Amino acid sequence: MIKSLPWYRVVQVGNGVWAIDEHGEVTAYLVVGSERAVLLDTGLGLGDIKAEIQQITEKPLTVVNTHGHVDHVGGNCLFSEIYIHKADAFFLDMERPANIEKRRGTLERLRSTIPDLKSFDLQDWVTFRSNKVNFVAEGAFFELGDRTLQVIETPGHSPGCISLFDAKNGYLFPGDMVSSEHIFMHLPDSTPLGVFLKSMNKLMPLTGNIDLIFPCHGREKGMPHIWNSQTPIDTRYIEELHECARRIIEDNSIGQTYDTIAGPGLYYEYGRASIVYKPEIES
Ligand SMILES: [Zn+2]
Ligand SMILES: [Zn+2]
Repeated sequence: MIKSLPWYRVVQVGNGVWAIDEHGEVTAYLVVGSERAVLLDTGLGLGDIKAEIQQITEKPLTVVNTHGHVDHVGGNCLFSEIYIHKADAFFLDMERPANIEKRRGTLERLRSTIPDLKSFDLQDWVTFRSNKVNFVAEGAFFELGDRTLQVIETPGHSPGCISLFDAKNGYLFPGDMVSSEHIFMHLPDSTPLGVFLKSMNKLMPLTGNIDLIFPCHGREKGMPHIWNSQTPIDTRYIEELHECARRIIEDNSIGQTYDTIAGPGLYYEYGRASIVYKPEIES
C-alpha cells in the first residue's frame, strides 16, 4: 500500500458529497447524510481510502460499487462488506488473470512518473481478504437520513453497472456510464450497444430532475492536469451519449479505429460525447 505520497486528492464537490480522486486514475465519491454515509467505489486499492474517508466522517458507512472493474473495487478489501450488482460480482476476484493483467498495466504506467512505485511489487497489490458481498438491484435504496440514494440498473460498459440517484439534491452518480471522457464499450465484458442505449433511455426522463452528474473519470477538454476532473458534468451528456450510441447502431462502420489502454476499438464522437465500441455488428 502506498503511504508516502499525497495519493488522494479530496475535494467537496456538492452538498455532502466529496470526490476522492486516486492520483488521476479514478474518482470515488463519499456521500454523507444526517445518519449514514455511502462510499461509491473504493478505487485502485493502492492507497488507504478508508483512512481518507475517516478524516471526513465518522458516521456508519455503506460501501457500494458502481460496477466491478478493478479500478473501482480495488479497496474493497479494507471493508467488512460491500454492495455490488450480481452481474458484476465475477470481477471481484483479484486473482483473476484479467485483473492481474490490468493491475500490471496500471503499475507500469504509473511507475514511469512516480519514483516511489519503482520498488512496489505487483504481488503486494494482489490483495484478497474475505468480506461479505451483498447484491443490489433495481429499486434498492440506501437511506442516509436526510437523503436517499436510489439504485438504477444501467448496464452497458459492464453488465452490472448501476447508477445512484439522489433525487432530493438532483445528483446522479453514473459510475463509468456517463462521463466527459470516452465511454469504453469495447471491453470483453461490455454489453452490446443496444443495451447501453436502453440504459440512456432509462436516464433520459430523469434529466429534468438531475442538476449535476458526478463521473468517475474524465476531465474537461482543454484542461489537462494530473488529477481527474472533479468537476460535475451536465445532463446534456446523457442526451449526447444516447445520440452517439444510436448513430453507431444505425451504421456500425461510422467509427474510426482507435487504440486505448484497454485495447483497440472503433471510436465515434457526437457533440461532447464519445464511445469506443467493438467492431463487430452490434444489436
Ligand atoms: Zn469501468
Ligand atoms: Zn473506471
